[in-house]
Amino acid sequence: MQVLLLQFVDPTETRGLPVFSHELGVLGSRLKEHGFACRLLALRGHRSDELRRAVIEHRPRYVLAEVEPHSVAAAHRTLVELSETYSLPVGVLGVYATCRPTDALSVPGVRALVLGEYDSTALALLESVRDGADPAGIDGLWVRNEEGVVRGRLPDLRDDLDSLPAPDRELFGYERIVSATGEAHFKTSRGCRLWCAFCPNDWYMDLYEGRGTFVRRRSVGNVLHEVRRVLDRYPQARRAVFLDHHFATDADWLKAFADAWPDRCGVPFRCWVPLSGVTEAMATELSRAGCDEVHVHLGAGSRFIREEVLSIRLDDDAIVGACGVLRRAGLRVVAKVLLGCPYESEVSIEETVELAQRAEADEVRAEVFYPTPGTRTAELCGEKGWISGRGEENYWEGRSVLDMPSMPAEHIRAVASEFPRLVKGPPGNVRGVLRKVSRTRRRGLRDLLGGR
Ligand code: SF4
Repeated sequence: MQVLLLQFVDPTETRGLPVFSHELGVLGSRLKEHGFACRLLALRGHRSDELRRAVIEHRPRYVLAEVEPHSVAAAHRTLVELSETYSLPVGVLGVYATCRPTDALSVPGVRALVLGEYDSTALALLESVRDGADPAGIDGLWVRNEEGVVRGRLPDLRDDLDSLPAPDRELFGYERIVSATGEAHFKTSRGCRLWCAFCPNDWYMDLYEGRGTFVRRRSVGNVLHEVRRVLDRYPQARRAVFLDHHFATDADWLKAFADAWPDRCGVPFRCWVPLSGVTEAMATELSRAGCDEVHVHLGAGSRFIREEVLSIRLDDDAIVGACGVLRRAGLRVVAKVLLGCPYESEVSIEETVELAQRAEADEVRAEVFYPTPGTRTAELCGEKGWISGRGEENYWEGRSVLDMPSMPAEHIRAVASEFPRLVKGPPGNVRGVLRKVSRTRRRGLRDLLGGR
């Protein structure tokens, strides 16, 4: 049976590359093992022409769409078109389906929704379609039929991750990704123990409460076996990237990994580390293994915004100290900050600049805050009435969708684009950037009025 898998990717990404998703890749492998013929279409927004081509070429009997919270509008238009123009049945899965199941299932044309981790449920759904059986009642599946919505019982968490197949990388045209980036991507764990208010993780935590251990890890042997095979298959991969946020947080696992990685795989790698878990031993093991770069999240400089709004419970000294530990171990530190968070102001931006300066990261990347649907920060912004009607394309373009009295969106945009320079410059430069934006705006208004 032919299956079309959809993912929605950054519409500003000009190379048109799919985004490697470990979960989608594992699903692709499982579907292949069970005789399904899958094709992945990576859409940069709603693209009728590409959709039409894929439907004509692949002739799917079912479409499964992985929808991320930053592509909801694009997905909505695409799924409606699949149903109305091609009469194709559609199932949705992924973060949006899990955090906003009622909204996702109410999109016209969507017949089924997979809640939470989807590798077994999506397979069972497609098997039932292939066999002409009624999918209603499958564990983890919500089905819309004439009687309404039938909600299957949520299955327990899968604890033996080694029993899953390696992701099907051909699905993503992986050769193109590796050739363009020189990197190969991996994931070693599922789940996260932290509670960041801008991340949908707490939905999964609540959903699976009492249904097994939330943070699970593949064995070191299982991970290395996959990495070795990928490096052999794609010799253009000169470095590895570990995508999971808990890659380095289990000391015993990390030690076993550091013992084996240099001989078995040997390429340099980068990974993400939560600053709250950084220890001297972690930094040493990462460095010993061959890690040359770590990505960390500073959050925001204002303690109120960082701790109370974003729920990153770390004080300035702990953040600066953790970055120092990583740097002294010889790791390049890439730090991300969020700008335009709820309650952001000129003063809090200055505090973020100051914190980034103190952290002495090798590189600082500023991201504009987006109220991801389903998160606690989005709820807060909704309650305050700060969410404008500006659409999700603003997220991809690095523009704020908030209208806050404390800081206009155009100021957030200006500070974000100047941020790396601000971190290198003397304190007080934030005011200079904002004055310049205000002057430009006033001039624009004068020209507009004068031109009438
Ligand atoms: S550490 Fe990462 S995955 Fe975990 S809650 Fe925070 S943002 Fe989400």
